[in-house]
Amino acid sequence: MSDYLLGIDIGATNTRIAIVDHTGSIIASERMPSQMSAGAPFFQEVGAKARSLGEAYQVQAVGAGSAGQLHHKTGVYLPGLYPTAPWVDVPLKEILETQTGLPSFVDNDCKIHAYAEMKVGAAQGLTDFISLTLGTGLGGGIIANGQLVHGAKGIAGHVGHISIEPDGPLCPCGNRGCLELYASGTAVAKMGSAAYGEEISSPEVFRKAASGDATACTVIEKMAAALGRGLGAMANIFDPQAFVLGGSILEWYPLLEETLLSSFRSSAMNELRDVPILQSPLEGRGGVIGAALYALDELRKQRS
Ligand SMILES: [Zn+2]
Repeated sequence: MSDYLLGIDIGATNTRIAIVDHTGSIIASERMPSQMSAGAPFFQEVGAKARSLGEAYQVQAVGAGSAGQLHHKTGVYLPGLYPTAPWVDVPLKEILETQTGLPSFVDNDCKIHAYAEMKVGAAQGLTDFISLTLGTGLGGGIIANGQLVHGAKGIAGHVGHISIEPDGPLCPCGNRGCLELYASGTAVAKMGSAAYGEEISSPEVFRKAASGDATACTVIEKMAAALGRGLGAMANIFDPQAFVLGGSILEWYPLLEETLLSSFRSSAMNELRDVPILQSPLEGRGGVIGAALYALDELRKQRS
């Protein structure tokens, strides 16, 4: 019996739907613009597209990773940081099951990405690690004993909301000085705009830093130092075999590395200073592959 799966990656901007085999190879895929702010009708459309893409294959299950917070058991979007958002309370799992007629498994996209790292990415063979996705925001997923950590309420892994500056700026989560306010694309653009006194995007800040611009370098060092401190705090709690960094900011990693490592080593306990910081090889593929393989494993657990 062939084990084809449908993997869905619902990002803030784009949604990718793919047919993935049991080894994690993408057989076919398509994209559509994300419109989470349209609420339930958008997710119905995603389900319908998945059904039509899957028609030519013997698909066993559907997996989906999505921006925002989802409860892995109920499959319903949680209020998270945006309690009035149109996707809150949308029953994604139920919609996908109705549209495709297949068992469906859903979770937050960064947690699903961690699963992809374990199966086909930088963390193959590891059982305890933390994956961080550095993009517009900063998300994460924790794998412990070879399993995705969900936590009591299903929202474990929000590494971006470790407070690293108690007197820092207010975060939408209600806390101050959260890591995401320093180590994310949005944060780099904001810190860069403040430093230059005019609007500047995060890729521009990185480009300027790469060419040696002192102001941009100061912004990037601030980001890298914050990230190192955050990783140090996580290492002290979880004693991971590795960290895996992914996301769109990863292409600039050489600019961060020196400051990040020195900040990490001064924050982590003695025995943890050598925890490897790996770079994800998955680029944009981790979402659909992780979702598909997570669905396959969950289906097997249910049937065993
Ligand atoms: Zn926060």
